[in-house]
Amino acid sequence: MSKFAWVTLTTNDNYGLGALVLAHSLKRAGTAHQLAVLVTPTVSEAMRDRLKDVYNVVQEVNVLDSQDAANLALLARPELGVTFTKLHCWRLVQFEKCVFLDADTLVLKNCDELFEREELSAAPDVSWPDCFNSGVFVFTPSVDTFTKITEFAVQNGSFDGGDQGLLNQYFGDWATADIKKHLPFVYNVTAYASYCYLPAFKQFRDKIKILHFAGKLKPWLIQFNSQTKTAATPNEYAHAQDLIQHWWTIFCDNVHQSLTDNMCLCLNI
Ligand code: UDP
Ligand code: MN
Repeated sequence: MSKFAWVTLTTNDNYGLGALVLAHSLKRAGTAHQLAVLVTPTVSEAMRDRLKDVYNVVQEVNVLDSQDAANLALLARPELGVTFTKLHCWRLVQFEKCVFLDADTLVLKNCDELFEREELSAAPDVSWPDCFNSGVFVFTPSVDTFTKITEFAVQNGSFDGGDQGLLNQYFGDWATADIKKHLPFVYNVTAYASYCYLPAFKQFRDKIKILHFAGKLKPWLIQFNSQTKTAATPNEYAHAQDLIQHWWTIFCDNVHQSLTDNMCLCLNI
């Protein structure tokens, strides 16, 4: 068994759909490594069962039940709750190295070479390239690091209220210290039109390794016609229509049949 793992997070059944498609995209890309997903108690049993079909590890994380000091201190900062949930990835110490992927990412090509990078490696954020985007990052699980980041969070908060602000503050020398920790942009390409340099998107389209549906409009929220098997791609994703379609193709081929009728109904599919 590989000592490396891809890690994602879901706090509800909608992001769970993203996590399922993401896992299948990793398998299609032929990864040699393990898959782990962090889930909160708000994820249904039915969704956890589906996640267990494809993830090696489905790890429940629960802020309130945890007993360590850093957790308890964070309870005084409830606004950091969702941020805190992502930080639990550092506790997956059964793995030597991991790559965190947001549940709204889609792997298009094999990226196993990412495990050769060191903590904390990430790609620049499109809106402020001296910050990294926290949708894709290489990290080394360590309870010590987890404790240090949570303590840092309690003291300093997060400048954007989320995990990206916090992690950029904690790994504050990312922009300047070591260019090897700058992942090429193709490992985290933001698809949404207003974040996207369209001529470059067209030029380098075939080089994209990981697509990131950052922003409000997630693939699972896009209308899908199950008869014609086509997604009603909104203008914001017009340049990436085939990629939206690709997300839905994986959904239809690998995910849909495993969902119960009740889940489909709840999820409006
Ligand atoms: N997430 C989640 N539930 C939420 C919001 C976020 O599980 O209600 C997780 C999920 O893995 C998601 C990540 O946190 O991909 C970051 O949030 P999101 O991708 O929505 O942020 P964006 O990339 O759009 O800034
Ligand atoms: Mn995201």
